Amino acid sequence: MVHFAQELGNDESIEFNKACLAMGSRPVRPAVAGVNLGNVIYLRTVRDALALREMADIEKTVMVVGGGLLACEAAASLRMMKLKVSMMHRNAYLLNRYLDSQTGPWLTDYYAKHGITMLIGESLNGFEGKTVLRNIQTKSGNRVPAGLAVVACGAEPNLDLVRNTPLSGPHGSPVTEYLETEEKGIFAVGDLAFYPDRIMGGVRRQTHWENARGQGLIAGANMTGKKRIRYEQVPYFWTAMFDLRLHFVGDFSIQPTRVDLRGTYAKKKFLARYYQGDKLRAILLCNQTEREVEAAKKELRHALGK
Ligand SMILES: Cc1cc2nc3c(=O)[nH]c(=O)nc-3n(C[C@H](O)[C@H](O)[C@H](O)COP(=O)(O)OP(=O)(O)OC[C@H]3O[C@@H](n4cnc5c(N)ncnc54)[C@H](O)[C@@H]3O)c2cc1C
Repeated sequence: MVHFAQELGNDESIEFNKACLAMGSRPVRPAVAGVNLGNVIYLRTVRDALALREMADIEKTVMVVGGGLLACEAAASLRMMKLKVSMMHRNAYLLNRYLDSQTGPWLTDYYAKHGITMLIGESLNGFEGKTVLRNIQTKSGNRVPAGLAVVACGAEPNLDLVRNTPLSGPHGSPVTEYLETEEKGIFAVGDLAFYPDRIMGGVRRQTHWENARGQGLIAGANMTGKKRIRYEQVPYFWTAMFDLRLHFVGDFSIQPTRVDLRGTYAKKKFLARYYQGDKLRAILLCNQTEREVEAAKKELRHALGK
């Protein structure tokens, strides 16, 4: 049987023959001046969220840097707490990594209608202040006063523990369809697993709750059970912002060549099928039931012949 030893933070060493890497990810800190100023917040833990809420009781002007899932969720929550919120996003519309060129601008407009000042097409140049944040500079030369900044510019896998080993790659920890790394007996799951996607094809790393949960179950079963199980879930995640609950089923990494929209933006209730040519690749659901989400997963599997 394979044997490993790992030194712990308290200098103790433990031996084991199976292990699962599940160290998750951490917020990316942009390479600009002032990233360590007080009142510049990076969201990861419950403690970060509680600190943000405490600061939001005192500071009333907040800038959210980023236009991805976390930025959208944070901005909506802060606005619902009646803060004066701005968002700085370097791309043309919010959630541009996932949404098509109709839905993305609609969502961006929805944020503006909720009173969020949108700085679209602006990039961060730096944070100004002596010890606490006073202004935010944009690359275009604008200077925006802010008492609080939430930085949501992506997440990188926590791979320090296995740095400079084959378990650490540029896109995460490479694993097989059984979620096992190159090192027999060592598995990797969740935000840091770079896994072969048996449903959509290709290799991907997902930083979403449902993926972490599903992979944890499979890796746990493969580490302890006799029968090995492949990870073959349809990529899926959800998010909530204002009164919108969005579900993403499938592969949103490439812009669709055609979108089939059922329902309306005006009613905030719709389902959009994303196609590449005639191939269904993803289904976006807004304010739909769990049943409809499950039906979308089935429909996509069926369309892919899986
Ligand atoms: C603010 C926020 C909002 C989110 N909202 C959504 C959402 O709406 N929908 C969604 O699908 N996903 C959401 N996510 C993403 C989701 O939370 C993650 O994808 C999921 O938690 C990943 O699970 P994980 O087990 O891989 O890592 P984590 O949940 O990050 O857990 C990793 C754990 O490992 C610990 N660790 C790290 N290094 C070491 C070490 N060397 N030794 C010991 N322990 C270590 C960490 O402290 C942490 O406790 C959100 C994430 C954040 C931060």
